Amino acid sequence: MCTTTLYQYSSTEISFQLKCGHCGEITQKETYVSLVETVPLPIGKGHTHLVQKCKFCGRDGTITMITGRGRPLTHADSEAAKSAPLMLFECRGFEPLDYVFRGEWEAKSLEGTKFEGIDLSGDEFAEYDEKGECPVMVSKPSATFNVVR
Ligand SMILES: [Zn+2]
Repeated sequence: MCTTTLYQYSSTEISFQLKCGHCGEITQKETYVSLVETVPLPIGKGHTHLVQKCKFCGRDGTITMITGRGRPLTHADSEAAKSAPLMLFECRGFEPLDYVFRGEWEAKSLEGTKFEGIDLSGDEFAEYDEKGECPVMVSKPSATFNVVR
């Protein structure tokens, strides 16, 4: 029996709650950013992935996703109970809080079979890799935000 599987994550849709860096107000609804949806920066030139106004103090904040700095979670990571940096964000005016597992994820078995459109909102994904003849499973995903300088 094949005991474990490699799973590889990639996601371009990220959901979280935001805390205002000015007054500390926490957004009621989760905020969603996507790599494919950009908006112009409120001040200056360039684009960002989210411009949001704090409902309490009215200040604007932006969240920009920076590509090329993240990597998928590997089998070795999960064996060692380590996390992988999936995406880097430049946050101005807001601090991201609870990450919400929404959107579609991808996993790859150790045999290389790809599984797409995985929904992790239910905390668990289980499939069977016919080619590799082993179960593919993702369970109890967790996420944290770490500050990089
Ligand atoms: Zn505020």
